[in-house]
Amino acid sequence: MNGERRRIRIGLLGFYHEANSFAPVQVDDAYVRAAGTFWGEDVLREFRGSASTAGGFIAAAEADGQVDLVPMVLSVLVPAGPVTAEALATQVGYFRESLAANGPFDGVLVVLHGAAVAEDVDDVDGHLLGVVRDAVGPGVVIGTSLDLHANISARMCEAADLLNTYRTNPHVDARPMAEEIGHLVFDAARGVIVPTLAFVPIPAFINILRQNTDVSPMSDVIADVVATAALTGVLTATVAEGYPYADVPEMGMSAVVITDDAPVQAAELARALAERVWERRDEFDARIPKPEEALEIASSTDATPVLLLDVGDNVGGGSPGDSVVLLDAAIRTDFRDLVSIVHDPAAAASAHRTGVGGVLDVVIGPSAAAVRGKATVIGLSDGTFEATGTLHAGFRRFDAGPSAALRLGTGQTVVVTTRVTLPLTPVQLEEIGLSLTDYRAIVAKGVHSPLAGYGPRVGLVLQVDTPGVTGADCSLLPYRRRRRPLFPLERDAHL
Ligand SMILES: [Zn+2]
Repeated sequence: MNGERRRIRIGLLGFYHEANSFAPVQVDDAYVRAAGTFWGEDVLREFRGSASTAGGFIAAAEADGQVDLVPMVLSVLVPAGPVTAEALATQVGYFRESLAANGPFDGVLVVLHGAAVAEDVDDVDGHLLGVVRDAVGPGVVIGTSLDLHANISARMCEAADLLNTYRTNPHVDARPMAEEIGHLVFDAARGVIVPTLAFVPIPAFINILRQNTDVSPMSDVIADVVATAALTGVLTATVAEGYPYADVPEMGMSAVVITDDAPVQAAELARALAERVWERRDEFDARIPKPEEALEIASSTDATPVLLLDVGDNVGGGSPGDSVVLLDAAIRTDFRDLVSIVHDPAAAASAHRTGVGGVLDVVIGPSAAAVRGKATVIGLSDGTFEATGTLHAGFRRFDAGPSAALRLGTGQTVVVTTRVTLPLTPVQLEEIGLSLTDYRAIVAKGVHSPLAGYGPRVGLVLQVDTPGVTGADCSLLPYRRRRRPLFPLERDAHL
């Protein structure tokens, strides 16, 4: 079969962003530039061999051996607030220009997150897939592989022929899921398969505390997805968790089944998957300890160090990463052996001016709730580090900017950074000279994403009910645009 495969030309481009509608930091052109936009061959140089979605698309093309992959443009952002109208227009321009300049294509692979929101467009991913469809016309195969947190829309499913999501949270399968879409796009481009897609939105969202795919109910949901995908005639199947912090009509869970030229089968299977998810909806809510309760557990357990997950300041969910709520609780309860990484450029700069061993006055955290006092500088670094192993969503290289480890007069340790950083790996603490075993508690500003990197290195993991724009209790969020009714906010919602 290998020798008979037609040589095909496949475009590769993307814009990967998860938008928290309530987050204070907007994504403008400067934010995208700072995150880095890769062009042409640089896309391959940056992502080849990585565990990311782009890494999976590239691996699939190279494994096929008969694909001319045409890398065009790709930006991958740290989650934050909505994209400005201007920055979205810039991306749309990049998409249009590169598709026009590099075509024609047999297929296009698009790197998207699935929960991007702009000031002027609720469904950025659907919008961008529409831009690709308009550029290449109806006969060209379009495929995308989304984050499990995608708020999948009818518009995305109309514009794309092939679509799936990760099946893990923390996300450690971005690459294989992208490889699956890559190979399906190649098959469809050669006419070996005819994808027929069915999409069923589920009027519910799942509390972020219940989204871990290693734990029921999501472990059961994913097992069901895998079983559906294995049925004869099925090309792929998806249940997306959705992203509750995007205040848009598309927000929520959904089921997608894609079959080979069998639209009725696709529709029946997607509906059945959605119904089985719906039956479990009462298990989608949760309650977790407040900061003081969590510190009490951490002070009495033998399973140290304890990873305290700062749910309300979840950087991967678009939070600013500057909260000191847990640090403050530790100071108030005289819990000394705690370390927290906090985004605070001013404190990092003054620690660098002071030098290791020096003592300075610090004000760490948002002004209204800041921690103040004397601190000793115990470590300095430029903030760049590279992790080993597969981290959440395949991230690998990090740049926190100039960083400093500070020992507060009250005993706790704070690593202050110049840039907000995804809390994915304890290497960030080690590269500045700290040892995990010196601490009884480590704060990570995430919910599930830190587990892939930190999990094997800690004795106990506790999710903590801290306040913030990613707080666990969504009934406190000031939604304006989400659909209604939506379970569990409206208990009378129906599938
Ligand atoms: Zn995600």
